[in-house]
Amino acid sequence: MAFELICSRCAKRHDSLSYRLACDRCGGLLEIEYDAAPAVGSRGPAGARGLRRFASTLPIKDPANFVTLGEGDTPVVPLEGIGSELGLDRLLAKLEYISPTGAFKDRGNAVQVTVLKELGIKAAIDIAGGNAGHSFASYCARAGIKFVGFAYEDPQHPKLQAIAHTGAEIHRVDGDRKACVAAARMFSEESGTLNMVYARNAYFIEGQKTIAYEIAEQLDVMPDHIVVPVGNGSLLLGIWRGFKELIKVGRVKTMPRLHAAQASAFQPLVAALDGRDWSASPGAGSVAVGITNAAPPPSASRSRSTSPISCQALPRYRDTASDAAASSELEPSAEERRQRAVVVQPPARDLNAPREPDPLERAGVLDEVG
Ligand SMILES: [Zn+2]
Repeated sequence: MAFELICSRCAKRHDSLSYRLACDRCGGLLEIEYDAAPAVGSRGPAGARGLRRFASTLPIKDPANFVTLGEGDTPVVPLEGIGSELGLDRLLAKLEYISPTGAFKDRGNAVQVTVLKELGIKAAIDIAGGNAGHSFASYCARAGIKFVGFAYEDPQHPKLQAIAHTGAEIHRVDGDRKACVAAARMFSEESGTLNMVYARNAYFIEGQKTIAYEIAEQLDVMPDHIVVPVGNGSLLLGIWRGFKELIKVGRVKTMPRLHAAQASAFQPLVAALDGRDWSASPGAGSVAVGITNAAPPPSASRSRSTSPISCQALPRYRDTASDAAASSELEPSAEERRQRAVVVQPPARDLNAPREPDPLERAGVLDEVG
């Protein structure tokens, strides 16, 4: 579908002829704008499954180019026992961990790697670690794009091993994540290789919006509330964009109230919604490792503001879901069952590691469903 990229800060328009991560005038984050309302109701190419059937609503020129590992179509399951305990008529979970690399990030990477492929990009740099790196490396391998990863973690770390198994080129860096980011940037400048930043990535967010499309298909009655785990905010933004489009074409009547869930030790977005100053405590940690992000991407790389209020997710979220509640903060020791109910992005599965019980199995949720 034809599109342009619009700066969220200064509104400058950019064409789609090159891969763009930021505004070339002010450094602001970009948003994708299509030349027509997305054909949400279309079924995509004949026989397509998962995300690929939504190709006509995505920033992809030819659906035949779609890079897929079978992502999308994750199940929605009732959590009857926990819902009853919480006094809710209906509590559902959408199981994003049933994704090819075990993370919701597969949706975003399917789209952004397809865009890389369509633009003829042969290699891309990213941090080699975590769910994001594993997912991106896997889709690059699928597309025949060389993944150049920079790693600071122990080589025996399961995620790093999984990334290595995709055939990635991995550079070891002595130091912490910050040193790794600096090394990746230097390598990019010297080699001319694209340095990927998925958290600021408009293409990635378009992939995330397909969660909203699927919810609209899977449920007869739209949810009143959706609780979204928030680290960088790409999932929140994606779901918001998806429902905006569904409303625009009349498929859904109203925007569900979107709740951003953060761990109490990492709550920059919650604090911003509350108008509070916040910074991470030294040595802070959380079992919800996927959302332990103290600094979501600002709306402009040259912004002087250090407040997460400038997080790309926040202004839009506030503007359109003004009745949205501030996020709850989940402290596992005190709210263990609640956290399980919300299913805060469980650590993605390493496809090469011995299988451990699923978080939901540990919580007994699958027993209830089955
Ligand atoms: Zn700009």
